Order: sequence, then structure tokens, then C-alpha cells
Amino acid sequence: MEANVETKKPDENLCPSCGKVKQYPTKHLCFYCYRRGNMGTMKLIVLEHIKAAEDTKRLSTNELVDVLNRFQYIGKKVNIHQMQNFIAKLRSYKLITSAKRRPNGVGRPITEHMVSKSGNRFLAKYKHNWMLGLLVPIKFKGKAQVMTQDHRDRASSIRGKLMKHEYEIYTFIFPERRKL
Ligand SMILES: [Zn+2]
Repeated sequence: MEANVETKKPDENLCPSCGKVKQYPTKHLCFYCYRRGNMGTMKLIVLEHIKAAEDTKRLSTNELVDVLNRFQYIGKKVNIHQMQNFIAKLRSYKLITSAKRRPNGVGRPITEHMVSKSGNRFLAKYKHNWMLGLLVPIKFKGKAQVMTQDHRDRASSIRGKLMKHEYEIYTFIFPERRKL
């Protein structure tokens, strides 16, 4: 009978992100994919959006908030105050540089952001990790982040799904679950 139940509704027990069994069927994803979706992913997408806009223009904090709020996977709305703090953090890590500019040569100067050289390097690594199905941050604190064999299996399954374009690259990203 048990086998019957499993074959009847396999999807409810499987995580849509990694395709493997979830710890709790009522949750949307498995623990690994939730953690992967929110750990360090705000940094990844903020750097990526600044970078993506760079060719045509440098984004101000306000514009960045607008862009992020149009990003369909962000979930919760990003507010300007949190973004200012986050930008300050990125600047203190030297991942971005900021410069003031007067749009028309007059009026109040607007601060605009650019990904720094080391920011570009980190962005490439974050993106690389994400595409490999791994957790985004390069360094972790504490034992909680150790990759077990189960995590490795899930990562390799995610990697396969991303390569086969079974879903969009950022379908399972949840930066809103972290404090900005
Ligand atoms: Zn999963």
C-alpha cells in the first residue's frame, strides 16, 4: 500500500528545485534549497543588477530599488532605507564604488553605484556557485554550512536541471527571507 501512495502523488514529496525528497511534504522546498535560495543571494542579485545596468547607465539607490522591485522572484518589496544600509555594507566590503553626479549639471547630486573590480570577481564566483547548485557565499561561518553527501546530491541535481533549462535560473531564489 505504501508504494501505491508514493507512486500516486510523487510530486508532493519532491522538492521542485532539486527534484529530491523534501523533509516535510507540506513545505514548498527542501531545507537545502531554502537555504540556498536565501543565503547571500541578496548580494548576488544586487551586484548583478548594478552590473547589468552599467553599460547604459549607473544606478542610483532609488533606481536600484525600482529595478529590484520589478524582479519577479524578489517576493517582498525592498524598501529604500534597507537598501541604503545594504549599499553601505557592500561599499564597506569594497564590492561597489559610488560616485556623486548632478544629472543635469544642476540641483542635488545623486549617488550612483558601480561594481568594483573585486565586486566583479565576487559576482562571478557567486554566480558560478549558484549555477553549480551550491550555496552562494564563498566562505561560511560555523558547522551548519558544511556540505553533506545529501547536499552534494541535491546540488548536482539542481545543476542538471539548470543545464537542461527545466526552470529559470532564479526561479528558486528567495532573498527576501533574509534581512537586507
Ligand atoms: Zn531541494
